Amino acid sequence: MSEASEEYEELLDLYVKIWGDRGKLILEKEINERIKNGLSREDVISELYKKEIGERKPMNIKPKDKLEYSVESLQEVYFSDVLLLIFYYLLSFVIIVVGFKSEMAFLVLFGLLAYFTSPLVALVLSRLKTDWEFKETIKLEKSANCLPEIKKLIPSVFQRSTLQKIFFSYDDDNLEIRFKPDEKFDPDVGKLGPSEVNVNISFKTDKEDLLLDIAYHGSHFRGGGNVASRVYRKLVLEFRSSLNEVVERAKSEKVVNFSEIVELIAKCGVVVKEIKCPECGGKIELPKEGSVTKCPYCGATIEAIDVYKIIKDLIKDLP
Ligand SMILES: [Zn+2]
Repeated sequence: MSEASEEYEELLDLYVKIWGDRGKLILEKEINERIKNGLSREDVISELYKKEIGERKPMNIKPKDKLEYSVESLQEVYFSDVLLLIFYYLLSFVIIVVGFKSEMAFLVLFGLLAYFTSPLVALVLSRLKTDWEFKETIKLEKSANCLPEIKKLIPSVFQRSTLQKIFFSYDDDNLEIRFKPDEKFDPDVGKLGPSEVNVNISFKTDKEDLLLDIAYHGSHFRGGGNVASRVYRKLVLEFRSSLNEVVERAKSEKVVNFSEIVELIAKCGVVVKEIKCPECGGKIELPKEGSVTKCPYCGATIEAIDVYKIIKDLIKDLP
């Protein structure tokens, strides 16, 4: 099997798990929508794979409780409610039959009452509020020095990736994010789905590493366990993949001036004296300080951050 079709199979498995019979349809719809943006089918599949499955791999995630188990247990609540109701029906039926046989009118009445009130019981049961919580610790390696940038970037990156209007607040070493999921987050969220979810992050440094203790919360109606499990699962996955982007951006924002670049390159044992102007290709001496310089030939503005990105890409591409 080629890499793309293996990735497709894994994605399909995941979508069927989440959406049931509609899984394949929804996956195909998402692929086709991205193809319209000019990507090839293979590219789209590998992009989706990275987003839904692959991006979790480079991070060191130590779940206290497995996410799949946590969200699947919500669906089990729903099924156990259905079983309970079937049992309730059967029991009332048995009571009616026994009442008739032994000619005890009150038993028959009691059985009938139980039988006809069962829809009410079902309704009450499905409208009970249920809380959900999932905790995990994510370790971001060698990111302790980027803590302020990471804290600052999380809300905006998360907002953009979920397309939700989020609210957030900082409190010492904590960040709380909350939002009311709408149909852009899950098309069925209106059907007993969670009305509000939140993510609580507390930051700790461990030498060079950054530790994030994350608690996800939500509350939903028992009858909406299926929708809720999907919403919660997406919440956790979106948050994890936002973190990846946050770390990447925080690290590149960190180095903003030329002196840090010179230092960084020196650490790698390389001496760089000149850089090429991205506009005219003219050779420019690498400035010793500052974060912006001008090309003496064409006047183009060159930012330290861009030079840093080029160097970072070069180093990454080296065998
Ligand atoms: Zn130039």
